[in-house]
This record gives sequence, structure tokens and C-alpha cells, in this order.
Amino acid sequence: MQIETSCPYCGVGCGITVELDAQRRFKSLKGSEDHPANFGRLCSKGSALGETLDATYSPNRIRKARVNGKELSQQDAIQAVATKLKSALDNYGPDSIAFYLSGQLLTEDYYVANKFAKGFLGTANVDTNSRLCMSSAVAGYKRAFGGDIVPCDYEDLEQAQLIVLIGSNTAWTHPVVYQRIVAAKERNPSLKIVVIDPRQTVTSDIADLYLPIKPSSDAYLFHGLLHYLISEDVVDQEYVNRHTEGFDKAVAACADFNLVTVSEKTEVSIDLLTQFYCLFAQTEKTVSFYSQGINQSASGTAKCNAIINCHLATGRIGHKGAGPFSITGQPNAMGGREVGGLANMLAAHLDFEESHLSLVEEFWQAPNMISKPGLKAIDLFDAVHEEKIKFLWIMGTNPAVSLPNTQYVNEALSKCETVVVSDVVDTSTTRHASIVLPALPWSEKDGTVTNSERRISRQRQFLPKEGASQQDWWWMSKVAQSLGFEQQFNYKTVHEVFLEHAKLSCFNNEGDTERAFNIEALKDLTASEYQQLEPVQWPAKKTNKSAAILSDGYFYTKSNKAQFIVDEARLAKATSSDLVLMTGRYRDQWHTMTRTAYAPSLQGHDSEPRLEVSLEDAQKRQIRDGQFVKITSATKGSLILRIRVSNDLKAGRCFAPMHWNDMFSAQAQINDLVPAEVDPISGQPESKAIGVQLETHATVSCGTLISTSRLKTLPEFDYFADMPLGKYWLTCYASEQEIDIDLIKRCLLTAAAELDSELKRELKRELKSELNKELHSDEPILLNLNKVKTTSFSNPAKQQSNSIYYINEQLFAAASFAEQGQHLPSSHWLAQEFEKLDAASESQLLAGEQGESDELVCACFSTGSKSIREVIEQEGNNLPAISGALGCGSKCGSCIPELKRLIQQS
Ligand code: SF4
Repeated sequence: MQIETSCPYCGVGCGITVELDAQRRFKSLKGSEDHPANFGRLCSKGSALGETLDATYSPNRIRKARVNGKELSQQDAIQAVATKLKSALDNYGPDSIAFYLSGQLLTEDYYVANKFAKGFLGTANVDTNSRLCMSSAVAGYKRAFGGDIVPCDYEDLEQAQLIVLIGSNTAWTHPVVYQRIVAAKERNPSLKIVVIDPRQTVTSDIADLYLPIKPSSDAYLFHGLLHYLISEDVVDQEYVNRHTEGFDKAVAACADFNLVTVSEKTEVSIDLLTQFYCLFAQTEKTVSFYSQGINQSASGTAKCNAIINCHLATGRIGHKGAGPFSITGQPNAMGGREVGGLANMLAAHLDFEESHLSLVEEFWQAPNMISKPGLKAIDLFDAVHEEKIKFLWIMGTNPAVSLPNTQYVNEALSKCETVVVSDVVDTSTTRHASIVLPALPWSEKDGTVTNSERRISRQRQFLPKEGASQQDWWWMSKVAQSLGFEQQFNYKTVHEVFLEHAKLSCFNNEGDTERAFNIEALKDLTASEYQQLEPVQWPAKKTNKSAAILSDGYFYTKSNKAQFIVDEARLAKATSSDLVLMTGRYRDQWHTMTRTAYAPSLQGHDSEPRLEVSLEDAQKRQIRDGQFVKITSATKGSLILRIRVSNDLKAGRCFAPMHWNDMFSAQAQINDLVPAEVDPISGQPESKAIGVQLETHATVSCGTLISTSRLKTLPEFDYFADMPLGKYWLTCYASEQEIDIDLIKRCLLTAAAELDSELKRELKRELKSELNKELHSDEPILLNLNKVKTTSFSNPAKQQSNSIYYINEQLFAAASFAEQGQHLPSSHWLAQEFEKLDAASESQLLAGEQGESDELVCACFSTGSKSIREVIEQEGNNLPAISGALGCGSKCGSCIPELKRLIQQS
């Protein structure tokens, strides 16, 4: 049996076909052949989704509601939430209540949260982690077009003659879109690609032109482009006159942005600037494609409008193959935007004008309608810290890790009177919750999501719900009913929620309140039509079937004309610092790893966080690849990370991933370093230009350890990062102290006892007789280290020592220790050797004889760089030969950019 659903990771919104066996158990999945977002493709994360369904890979799954640590029935938990809400309302008023939602929620969940808060509780404090992802793009579109309208789709990328990728490592963050661009370029070699990014990522491998722009200086570059377009007389004056306003002001505001000035501000040479400006000026069909590198900035909205201005000036908007295209990070950031999931939106693309407020009030029959916008994420957590928010309901997100200045956020959460967290697994945030509600994971929930090209797709349940877990709209409706709103939240099915959302989209959607978001055609779907719903783009009106938008030059501003807006271009404060840190994503990880960390095939590519620095910066500080450094910033936070020296960075810039947190590491949580500096218009925090200082970490020992069970009682390492690798756990660590081998053995023994109850009893018996006293149940097992048999070998030339550990004659762990860390074998190699450990490979492992470096490249076929290089040597320099021999590159395609790099290097 097959079920069509959609991927829960990124904003590409790929369709997935899930195959179930006769007992309706999960069998396999693949990309949906017919889904217009991916046409059968999936990236490494999407392809590995099946691995996240196995309960052994999600040991932190929440299956029961908990109130103050005690498991309660659904009904008691609902009552507990309602009581706390009522108490906050009665004692402190509606503004003391806040919701912090997530781009992972389905549209129906978002809709009910927004309605409950803004119409019934009377609080506008409803914000979402999408604030951190694309709120600058929203603000840019709204200011220019009068509505939150993304005027492009993926086909535009295939029909363009020029694609400008700005602040987007598309190859890793939106891999299927990247593959569509690659395929389009293969079909149409005259398609030009420009990559503008402070970091030369794998995405730039397809670039005809790469501009290594200074972090956060993009607004200068696009003000300069507008100036150039004007001076070269390539403005579409007729379009500007008929469909826009503010052009003259924009001309004046950009007058000083000549090539020399822009080159100074952006650190891009005049030659490269001229090449880019010429290409843009000459190419009618141009798509500017941007994501977090633009949005996650203290001047993100200014950058977005600077890009949009260039499209308005040339009339390149609303036509096939042209437009300013912001892609969202999360699977349903767009769905959240449709229902008003940001604190400065009301609902269904309506704002806070009197007429809009009364329209929504009437539709909802709302007794406690709000009258003004609420607090945006950073302000909201300030209010939590100031103890103005007494009740905070967090759904499907992990702000204790993902918000800037995490120490402050954790303080805020610990001060809040009531924190309710609805989630699927325990996270750093659930630690702060007095009430935890079990939510549904991707495979168990049902509803709709909207991807970056305004395409609504069904996410369908294909596995039964576990425990007391329920979808978020269900929990909220039950709480609302408990508070007396039985009628307005009497939803029986998700279909009913969707219909109400669709009806609001077309309610009085004309004249003064006309807005672009309109899904009238879906408002009368029967339950079975909703179940069968095919992906559909909005607008979806009954009369006009076309989903084309802005093509007729009609905009949703008061004058129905698009607006040129030029803000002052500015750099983030970090520019005065020693080094500028940019944060971002790894290819095979997602957010705070609550899901991807449990997919074994995703762990080999980058199994620990690295700080990437340029060769020049490494030499200046006398640090080498593999060494550890301490990083500090204005937050006073500090991290310890291993260095990766990169040729892809210019001096003064460094990069670290955003995924690791205290569930998987110590001293590697990047948002500890990120101050809460926000864009003044969108409220989106800066994550791409953070001033940091580096100093070498006096690492006396470090190591990589692979074991059969997770080492819960890790010694007090200065740094560690651990990761499940299917049957094993991988731990990388560093310490300023000499490593105490007995300490390692204790950890291993304790971990082994967790797996083996007989061993646990035996150890306790022995410990009891040795200490001659009764033991508490949590007494640590510290003795009998003789039970751990160790075979070790030291290699002084490499300052490396390798060990294999057996417990009760069973192979349990292997470790490689080294001073400084630069001579450690790769975790991919260590895991492979451990997997096939026998007498022959034991000596190889003990000797640490990895040979040439072997890093995992392909997650689908678990192929390392060593075997790929061997095939290149034997079969020649071409991708089909490598794919034919090893499979890599033939399935999800996420590794293709790296395969091409290996080919180039050879
Ligand atoms: Fe999922 Fe990958 Fe498609 Fe994004 S590109 S939706 S992560 S399969």
C-alpha cells in the first residue's frame, strides 16, 4: 500500500511516497514521481526519513503527558493547562500569555493556535521560530507588494537565463532545488549562475561567477546594482511608471553607490561587480534566489527590498523565469505565514487595521479580539525574562538552543511561571516545562503544509499514533473547550480545521480587504476530497483557476502599485571584531538534531561541529587543522571547537554549524555566542556576522571513541560531541587534562551495565560486598575495572594511542587518543573498522593505519572519499563511472557537489 505525503524538513516541500506492508508497517519510501516540487527526487535527509521511525533511534520520544514530572492522563493534562491559562488571565491579563510556535507545525495546528490566542485569549503574543528563518523576507515582500507574496516558483528557476543565488548554500540547504538548477544548466548551457556568498560553498561549484561578498553587506551591492541599471539606462520605464511608486526617491537614495563605493563596502572587486551588474542588466529572465544569508541579518529587510527594487526597476516580476525568490528554511514556514503565525500578522494575510480586525472578529465570532501586534520572538523572550509573560506554550521547537544568546533564554525559561511544551521528543527546552504534552511526529500527523513556491500539499498520517500523543490542534482545541469555548473549537477532524482556514482566506476578500492569499477553491472540499487533495498552488480561486501572481502588475498596496524602498545599508556590529563568525547548516543535519541525529546514515558526513577558518587566519594564530580553539563573543559565552582549515574562506571570516547543543555535546552550542541583535523592521536576529575572538585551547588529550552504548557518564571533558551511528555511539572529546584511562573504563562499564541487566546486578553485588553496605539505586558503578579488558597500542610518531575494549569477553568499544588531535583517524574509518573488527583489522585499528584520509561523502551508499578516489584512478574522471561503480551520486544526489570536487582534485 502506498501513501503520498510530504517531507518534514526544508522549505522545498518534496513529495514522498511511503510504502507500507500488509500489516500497514513502514516498508520503504521514495520521492513522489508526480509531485511538482521534486518529481521523484529526495535529498539525503529526506531519503533517510525511514530511519527516524524506528523507536530505537528516538529514545527520547514523549508518549505520555507530564505535569510537574508526573505522567497524567490526557484529560488531566488538558485540565492542568486550562487551569494555568485561566490563572494567568485572571491574575495578570491576556498579555501575560504567549505562544511560541514552529515552521514544523502543520497549517491546521498554526490556524488553531492563532485563532485561540488572538480571538479568544486576547493575546497577540503568537510568534514562531520562522522569525529566525525568513521574517525579513516577509517584511520585504509586504513593504514592496502590500502582501506576503513570493512571486516565483521552481519552474521559474528552470526557465531563467540568469539565476543569482544570494546568501544560500542551496546545494546543502535546499538540495532538490539545487539539483533542479543543475539539471536546468545541463539542458541549457547558456543559463548563467552567479553565487554571492561570503563563504565559497559547494553551491558555487556550478557558478559562472562567484562574488565573495563581505558578511552582511548585500544591501550595498544591490543599491549599487540599482544605481548601475539606472546609469546604463536599462530601467523598464513603462513598467515603473504604470506599476510602481517611489522610483525617484530610490534613484536619489542610490546615487552614491558607484562601483568604487560598493567595492569598498562589499570587498568585492570592481571587476567582479561589473561582470555581475552587466549580466543582470543584459538578462531579461533573471531570478534572484535568496535565503538565510540575506534574511538572518540585522539589516535583512533592507537587503530584501534592495533586491526587489532591482526587479521592479527592470519589470522582471510576475513573468516566467524572473522574480525575487526567497526560499524558506522550514517545511511549513509559508503555511504559518498564511494563517498569521507571526506576531505582527493577524490572519489570512490580514493586518491590524480596524477593518481587518473586525473582519476576523466577525468570522471567528471572537469574544476577546486583539487590537494590536504582539511581541516578536526576541522581544517575547525579553518579556519572559522580565517575568511579564507568566504562561508560555512552546510547540515543536527548541528555543533553549535555537534562539540567540541561549544562556539568557534558558534563564528566561527557568523564571517563567508556566512553560508548556508540546513536542515529540525531550529536548533542551522540555527541561524547563512544568507541563509536557506528547505531540505527533511526521509519520503520525495529518494536515497540510505550504512550500516555498506557495504550493499546498498534504502531509498524511501513515503510522498509528503512539501512546497519548495527539496533534497540536487537538490539544489546543480541548484546552479552549475547557475554558468555555466549546462551540468555536468543536473540531472533530483536521479536515474541519482546514475548511475553516480556507473559508477565512476568501471571507470578504475583495475591495479594500482584497489580499493575495485566497484558497476559495478548497473551502468546500469533502472529507474524501481533502484526503485525496493533490498539491495546489495559491491563489486558488473558484473562478480564476490560474495561480499566476503579480503578472498583471496589480499589487496589494493601498495604491495597488509596488513600492521602491531604500533603507540605509549597514553592516552588522561584528565588523569591528577580530573575526566574523557565520553560522549555518551541514548537509545531513537539521535544526537542533532532534530527528536527524537518530538517522544512522546521516551521521558519517560531519559527525562533529567544526570551526572553519581560512588558511591565513590559521597561520596567523599558529593553529592547525584538527586542533581545538576556544571561541568567545560579546555574549560572554565561550565554545571549544575543532578547527577545519578551509580554502573556501577569506581571512577574517569563519563558519560553524548551528546544530549541536547540550543534548549531544558540551561547549559546542553555537547560539551561546550569538547576541540578540535584530533587524529593526522584521525583528529577525543576526546569525551571519558575529564578532568573535579565538584563542588556542590547551588540549592535552583528545580522542574519538566508538562504543556499543552511549556513554552517559562522560568524564568532565572540556568538550565532547556524541552521535548515534546506528548500532554504535561515536564520541569526540577534548580535555585540558591528561586523560584518565580508568575514568574511560568506568564510563564504558556503566554504559555496558545499562545494556546488560545481569552485568548490572553482578556489578552491584560486587560493589555492595566491597563497600559492605546497601546501595542506593542511583549509586554509580565505579569498581571492577578489571572487567574491562583493554588491548592498546601507542604510536609515538603520530603521538597517538589506540585501544580496543572488551567487557565480559564481548567487544564493547574502540578509541583513538591523540595529543592535539591532528592525527586522529576519521570517525568514518573508525566506525568501519569497528564494525568489521576481527584479528586482522584489530592490528590495523590499533595501529591507527587509516592510510589516506577517508571521509564519508555519500550517505545513501555509505561511501568514503578513499574508495571514490580509487575509482577515479581506475575508471577515469567522470561522475557516471563513479556512480556505476559505487552507487554514490545516483540516489539522492546530495553528494554530487563533493564528488565533483574530488574529481577536480584528482
Ligand atoms: Fe526534504 Fe531534502 Fe526535499 Fe528538503 S530537499 S524537502 S530536506 S527531501
